[in-house]
Amino acid sequence: MTKRGGLWPRKLIDGKEIAATIRAEIKEEVAGLVSAGTTPGLAVVLVGENPASKAYVGGKIRACNETGITSILRSLPDDVSEDDLLDVVDDLNADNDVHGILVQLPLPGHIDEALVIERIRPDKDVDGFHPVNVGRMMVGIDGFLPCTPAGIPELILRSGLTLSGKHAVIIGRSNIVGKPLMNILIQKGERGNCTVTCCHSGTADLGAITRQADILIAAIGVAGFVTADMVKPGAIVIDVGINRVDDPGAKRGYRLVGDVDFEAVSAIAGAITPVPGGVGPMTIAMLMKNTVRAARIAS
Ligand code: NAD
Repeated sequence: MTKRGGLWPRKLIDGKEIAATIRAEIKEEVAGLVSAGTTPGLAVVLVGENPASKAYVGGKIRACNETGITSILRSLPDDVSEDDLLDVVDDLNADNDVHGILVQLPLPGHIDEALVIERIRPDKDVDGFHPVNVGRMMVGIDGFLPCTPAGIPELILRSGLTLSGKHAVIIGRSNIVGKPLMNILIQKGERGNCTVTCCHSGTADLGAITRQADILIAAIGVAGFVTADMVKPGAIVIDVGINRVDDPGAKRGYRLVGDVDFEAVSAIAGAITPVPGGVGPMTIAMLMKNTVRAARIAS
């Protein structure tokens, strides 16, 4: 936790700094693998021209370059057929230089995302979305954990905070954040051992539940949704949201904000992640970690 945005001594969980430390650790691990004859390889499949997807993919490729992982980008047009996309996945599944495969979501509406995810070999599924890895996560056996939720206990622990015995309240039940995070935080061990409540759009009296949280995680996709009156003083607040809000003063005409009203909530939280610079960089670091693990298993 470092000084940032005048928040010191309040505890700002600096995801950017923690992710940089993890990438440095990964770089060393990659060097070891390379000298033993295996260069980890990550294939990223990007369909279409969605600017946010392109930005995320760019970040992943930069992290590969930084850590020594070989990246392979397969860009496909927006109107690619489902069959052609599945053929690309099959090629990557068969390629021994590719240890991890990531298909950037969301896919265009004419493509069945679940079908594409299930086509990726589970031992190359570094996004952790294949049902085999989801099942492994649920029963608590080794597999690939989805990167965004996997980064959250890492952020908390590396900030010198603990999870065990705490009440974690998650807002959001998506397959990529809320549901896997529930499964991760409930497992025995230092990365979990929480009592977990998962709230969603059908939850009644949300504030009454969030106010019980020792750890509150927001993964909703609505700017500033979590207000100070929803937070117990001293709680750890993790903001997964990435939302664009218009800002005529900004270079691109918008800025990124989270799902938490940062200014008001940071005044009462015990620790809090900023957006940007909190959960986002950790997602990419965990992807690098999964890719190295896939390469290690394959070597
Ligand atoms: P999603 O749209 O799939 O899910 C949103 C969830 O919020 C739903 O489960 C819904 O039940 C819940 N919700 C919506 N309105 C609600 C309400 N009024 N009360 C309670 N719950 C409500 O979104 P997602 O894919 O999980 O992403 C959530 C946010 O996290 C987005 O802003 C996304 O951009 C961001 N995200 C960030 C990262 C990262 O690396 N930082 C990764 C994935 C997603």
